[in-house]
Amino acid sequence: MKATLAPSSLISLPRHKVSSLRSPSLLIQSQRPSSALMTTMKTASRGSVAVTAAATSSVEALREGIAEFYNETSGLWEEIWGDHMHHGFYDPDSSVQLSDSGHREAQIRMIEESLRFAGVTEEEKKIKRVVDVGCGIGGSSRYIASKFGAECVGITLSPVQAKRANDLAAAQSLSHKVSFQVADALEQPFEDGMFDLVWSMESGEHMPDKAKFVKELVRVAAPGGRIIIVTWCHRNLSQGEEALQPWEQNLLDRICKTFYLPAWCSTSDYVNLLQSLSLQDIKCADWSENVAPFWPAVIRTALTWKGLVSLLRSGMKSIKGALTMPLMIEGYKKGIIKFGIITCQKPL
Ligand code: SAH
Repeated sequence: MKATLAPSSLISLPRHKVSSLRSPSLLIQSQRPSSALMTTMKTASRGSVAVTAAATSSVEALREGIAEFYNETSGLWEEIWGDHMHHGFYDPDSSVQLSDSGHREAQIRMIEESLRFAGVTEEEKKIKRVVDVGCGIGGSSRYIASKFGAECVGITLSPVQAKRANDLAAAQSLSHKVSFQVADALEQPFEDGMFDLVWSMESGEHMPDKAKFVKELVRVAAPGGRIIIVTWCHRNLSQGEEALQPWEQNLLDRICKTFYLPAWCSTSDYVNLLQSLSLQDIKCADWSENVAPFWPAVIRTALTWKGLVSLLRSGMKSIKGALTMPLMIEGYKKGIIKFGIITCQKPL
């Protein structure tokens, strides 16, 4: 099956959404924060300085939460699912019960389909330097570095992930090409215009400030470089709709708490951000149907004997994560959660 490449999949939102996303402080307030963030902000409602301080400290807390979450859960994930910590890409309506290797292939296919959607093909020898923003244990980096013979640097908030990613690179004799470090995607330790490919596979959903996130991706991209964002989104709002329905928001809030996610946005919000920065060849697609078999498969593996033992050994964060997986399935089924890809090119 082919990825959703049809022009009809290119989505754009009314312009009024752009302004609310431009300012970092507005962003946190204009999007409905998850309940934890909301509580912090309520307690700080006495003055704007207090609100800013609270927002800063809740961003800090979020960063620490993400680091701890991945420090604690990455080993379990790798043991059961391997080094790609993202959805697989499947033919829609495929009812085949795949073996473990079938799911791994689907994860590799996700990388390939994303590159193809963005117009980055094997012939594209221009890809010399790549940044993997939110790299997990480096599955994408090692794959892309090997595919293009490119140099790749990955950043993550989790020291455990960075170490494991470097160890795996060494084990695969890739240390001369690939390296990993702890760094924040919102303040990347790179000079402007360094990378021919800026890759963010399922990390955008963790970013508390989508405008700053996108700006950083654009800043580090080389002129003519490609940016690929594959991320969890909420559905696009209809014309005149100001926010999700309370029951929809409630479901997302429950997912946010476990997976350390701030407020969600839609694929159209990303498109508008990229448009506001004058990026070229902006495309997006909804791949929700293509990832539908993923969470049921993860749950099936969690319910095996090996899965259950590993889960219990891994600790509370993993157990809570496992218990939240059915909410992801519900979110997709009800059309609230969308699996989005957004790509563009930085002008020369
Ligand atoms: N892209 C990887 C991992 C996805 S899991 C893969 O597909 O295998 C999400 C990743 O985003 C984790 O590595 C987490 O540390 C990272 N992340 C979340 N917020 C981040 C931030 N602000 N800065 C850098 N990395 C971040």
